[in-house]
Amino acid sequence: MMEFNLDKLVRENIKKMSPYSSARHEFSGAATVFLDANENAFGSPLPVNYNRYPDPLQSALKEKISGIKGVPPQHIFLGNGSDEAIDLLFRIFCEPGRDNVIIFPPTYGMYEVCAEINDVGVKKIQLTPDFQLDLDAIEAAVDAHTKLIFVCSPNNPTGNSIHRKDIEVLLNNFDGLVVIDEAYINYSRQQTFIPELTEYPNLVILQTLSKAWGLAGLRLGMAFAGQPVIDYMNRVKYPYNINTATQQLAMEALGNISSVNNWTKTTVLQKEGLTAALLELPFTEIVYPSDANFILVKMKEARRIYAYLAAKGIIVRDRSNVILCNDCLRITIGTPDENNQLLEALKNYMA
Ligand SMILES: *Cc1c(COP(=O)(O)O)cnc(C)c1O
Repeated sequence: MMEFNLDKLVRENIKKMSPYSSARHEFSGAATVFLDANENAFGSPLPVNYNRYPDPLQSALKEKISGIKGVPPQHIFLGNGSDEAIDLLFRIFCEPGRDNVIIFPPTYGMYEVCAEINDVGVKKIQLTPDFQLDLDAIEAAVDAHTKLIFVCSPNNPTGNSIHRKDIEVLLNNFDGLVVIDEAYINYSRQQTFIPELTEYPNLVILQTLSKAWGLAGLRLGMAFAGQPVIDYMNRVKYPYNINTATQQLAMEALGNISSVNNWTKTTVLQKEGLTAALLELPFTEIVYPSDANFILVKMKEARRIYAYLAAKGIIVRDRSNVILCNDCLRITIGTPDENNQLLEALKNYMA
């Protein structure tokens, strides 16, 4: 069994820094007159007042999320999208010009973008042809400066889930952090890794309100991890990273779980219908099995079909030049009406 030591993973400057202490942080008791933060005491030129700084640690929202996810609030970090959590992990753990991370292409693009911004090396271990982990190649790639391994499951853009046993091998053997990006977990038949948080101090799980929850415009991402990791994320983030409007609207939305569950069920049914209908088309070669709200479809002349659809005002994602995705389009499941429009357009496509 490997030895996990968080202190060895954290950059020296981050260990030594003293975090910014905001006015709202220093005094959090009960009071009626707040003259500590240089706010405008009169109000805001809006129907709702936003003149006060937001809660820097979003306690009310975390309580609500804790109830839904079954994770204690001190194990939750909230960010401006999951993208903030991804960037913070680089800034806390990866020494620029020295450290590296491992990613598994084809996968979500932000891991590599964040690595490049932070001048951190990226080791790419391609997924196998059935879009699973190549454990031998991963073992050979890990070195003393490998800090993070990003596993996206269900994976974007392929749509499949990564075998749970393989992820457990990483969790049991890698002494850096294993980051599991579960952005699409609500659509999946697979279980979240959240129950495993108590077992693995090196596990970080990312989820988001941007997909199944229908709140991409609000920008709220969640990270679940051991308290020491969460504490570092809170020290390094911008003090007021989640604005008041987002905190309030997310609270309200999280009370509406039933409409989210209904949309999720409809999306999964629509995905099955769209898959069957696409397979009837002469130019469809493969519709890859998907645990997400999109499908990866291999088509003859994918690029031409992309341009044809775009000319008709229907935009899908051209992945045809992505590794292992030759001739593939990634199609998000829309409303029944949108999916029908897509199918009608494709039926009229002349190869
Ligand atoms: C869409 C997506 C996200 C969401 O990012 P946000 O910043 O929370 O909107 C994260 N990871 C993957 C793999 C995604 O596809």
